[in-house]
Amino acid sequence: MYYIDPHIHMVSRITDDYERLARCGCLAVSEPAFWAGFDRASAYGFLDYFRHLVEFEPKRAGQFGIRHFCWLCINAKEAENVSLAREVISLIPQFLDRPNVLGIGEIGLNKNTRNEAIVFLEQVDLAARYDELILIHTPHLEDKYMGTRMIIDMLRSDSRIRAERVLIDHVEEHTIRHALEGGYWCAMTLYPTTKCTPQRAADLIEMYGTERVLVNSAGDWGPSDPLAVPKFIQEMKRRGHSEEVIRRVVLENPLAFFRQSRRWSREWETSLNGQLLTSEVPRTEPALAQTRS
Ligand SMILES: [Zn+2]
Repeated sequence: MYYIDPHIHMVSRITDDYERLARCGCLAVSEPAFWAGFDRASAYGFLDYFRHLVEFEPKRAGQFGIRHFCWLCINAKEAENVSLAREVISLIPQFLDRPNVLGIGEIGLNKNTRNEAIVFLEQVDLAARYDELILIHTPHLEDKYMGTRMIIDMLRSDSRIRAERVLIDHVEEHTIRHALEGGYWCAMTLYPTTKCTPQRAADLIEMYGTERVLVNSAGDWGPSDPLAVPKFIQEMKRRGHSEEVIRRVVLENPLAFFRQSRRWSREWETSLNGQLLTSEVPRTEPALAQTRS
């Protein structure tokens, strides 16, 4: 089954992972800017990181027929340093015309501190001024429930932000309802140990349905599984869910959210043979078979 991994940190993964993703049906990845595992010494570290995300990584992905999208920001952990964060924020606009940038993210909270909140609001303001989508990281080491409530309150305090243009990530059993009821998109992160397992994600889909819900691997430099989305697909199939339901979560929902980006290009979707992507368009396997023969 074709799918998109809407949250994966490919800068931390080896090239073989792209090959494995492609073999499993991955059409595209979206890579939010995140913490590198250490605090950068200066804003220039971010400048090079952003260049990596908009220049090098799309080329590496392209070798395997995978489209690479990304999000830019200063992550919540390094946002504790407000003056560094402001310098980094000022570097972002020069990258906002790059074709693979989907918006601002993953912004959010780490330890739910005052400084993190200040920088979060400034990045929400940046997104509003440039009409960008927002991808949100909810805390997982500290209090996720409180952090999620704080984030939603801050988003509501800015009347320019429309809920349907925001994706709240790393939701779990105790936070998914708040995200969905607020009108936001939400995503479950499938981690082998912490966060959601494919089984828990399937349970949540059965409880809350498929509307505005995505799943991702958040594969990075720590213990994580870049093939977590295919494992979720297997779990959903094992439970007897239809292809249509599974495809909505792993392909049509990420596409529907990404299409709102002001730089989104329909050309890429067309080039993939759009008929394979959406159920509304009739399938044209016979035509494809003809081309092959
Ligand atoms: Zn992440």
